[in-house]
Formats: sequence, C-alpha cells, structure tokens
Amino acid sequence: MAELIIDHLEVAVADKVILNDVNLTINDGEIHALMGPNGTGKSTLSETIMGNPRYQITSGRILLNGEDITEMATDERARAGVFLAMQYPVEVAGITNADFIHSAMDARDHHEAVPVLKFLKALNQNMAFLDMDEDYADRGLNEDFSGGEKKRNEILQLMMLQPSMAILDEIDSGLDIDALKIVARGINEMRSQSFSCLMVTHYQRLLNYVVPDVVHVMMGGRIIKTGGPELAKELEKNGYEGLEQDVKG
Ligand code: ADP
Ligand code: MG
Ligand code: MG
Repeated sequence: MAELIIDHLEVAVADKVILNDVNLTINDGEIHALMGPNGTGKSTLSETIMGNPRYQITSGRILLNGEDITEMATDERARAGVFLAMQYPVEVAGITNADFIHSAMDARDHHEAVPVLKFLKALNQNMAFLDMDEDYADRGLNEDFSGGEKKRNEILQLMMLQPSMAILDEIDSGLDIDALKIVARGINEMRSQSFSCLMVTHYQRLLNYVVPDVVHVMMGGRIIKTGGPELAKELEKNGYEGLEQDVKG
C-alpha cells in the first residue's frame, strides 16, 4: 500500500498561517505533480508531510495507508515509509554518502543492520543505474557536490530506501537535460503499486519524462486547481496568472 491522504490541512510557520485547507489524495501507485509559483507553500507542504517540527499543523490530518501520522515524529514517519528529497539537500562533511544511506536504511528497519555485502551490492547497482561515479560513495554527504549531483544523490537514496511514499521537492532544479533524464529514469524505476509520489516542480519539463497521473496547482497556500498532465502544459503556455484569472472567473 502507498496511499496518502491530506485532509483539510492548515499549517502555520512562526505563527503565520501558510497552508489553508489543503486536501489531496494520492492512491497506491500514483505520481502527483504539485506546481505553483515561488512562496506559495509547496515546500511547506513537503516539510509538513515529513514532520518537520517548525511547521505547526493547526488543523486537519495526514493519513498514510489509513494510519494517522499527523502527530508522528519525523523518524517514525520514515519508518512508516515516508521519504523527503529536500529542495536544498544538506551537506555533511564528517559522514560518507555510503554510511549515511546505510544508517538511514538501518534506522528504517528499526536499527536492524542491513548486511554490508547486500548493501554494497545494491549501492553499486543503483549507482551504475544512475550513471554515478563510484567515488561518490566515499565522499562526504553531498560535500562539494554540484546542485545536479545533489539531486541525483537524492534519487540514489530513494532507490536504496525504497519508501512507500516519496516527496520530491524540486528534484529537477539545476539539472541539465542529461541529468534530468537520469533523475527521471530513477523515479520511473520506482513506479509500482506499492509506491506513490508527490513531485514538486515549477516546470513542465520534468513531466515530459515522468508523466504524472494527477497535476495540482497551489497558489497562496491552497490547491486551486487539479487536473491531468494537460494542466501542466496549459500552465507552461499561459503562466500562473492566466490560471488565477481563469479560476476566479
Ligand atoms: P514554495 O516552496 O512554494 O516556494 P514555501 O513553502 O517555501 O514556498 O514558502 C511559503 C511561505 O512560507 C513563504 O512566504 C515563506 O516565506 C514562508 N516560510 C516557509 N518556511 C518558513 C520558515 N521556516 N520560516 C518562516 N517562514 C517560512
Ligand atoms: Mg520555491
Ligand atoms: Mg519550495
């Protein structure tokens, strides 16, 4: 199962309401795109689903596979199967990329160690699949990685952790066309009935390579329109302002 329900969610940051009555259902196996201009609350929604404590849920609920995760801590959500690729992935100098992924997998499995050989085999396979140089494994987590390399590395984590629900916040930002295709290849490889995904993006471009089942447009902390892939194409053509006028009538 991989079903996410966002039910009448209202979220405040530093006592300022950012999200208003957000409703969203992602069914098993579906990929949804969340689009919208800067500063409308897309990252706020992403961080809130992952349980970042800075974002206060003032009303509404989040359900994962029927279970209410609204009050769960981030690590519990990760164990429940939620994964977030952050808009700005963190850099950590003291820990290698491979060690970071390995400990994240152990934590997901209630601190039952994933055997080293099994881990390395999967890591090498996935790195090859993502056209990543072997030396990325032993470098500091995202340390001195370019923007595009960080994004590719988020997809490596995704493929290793195999979450049931992934939120990818601007996974396409800063990617050249070759890197975009590789990132898309990774996401498409994850596609199955036991995986669902919310892809946050400004641009239609990613959606040519990962075709979403549903497209949502967020403005001013609300989802103002939902449609199919054609909605993203319409946005590309007419921009968000055209849509806003359209919605207001
Ligand atoms: P988007 O991802 O759509 O660009 P964000 O969710 O990052 O938008 O931001 C939505 C609004 O919430 C903005 O006005 C932003 O300034 C505010 N905001 C987001 N995160 C924080 C935070 N940690 N502290 C203060 N304000 C925040
Ligand atoms: Mg933004
Ligand atoms: Mg954002």
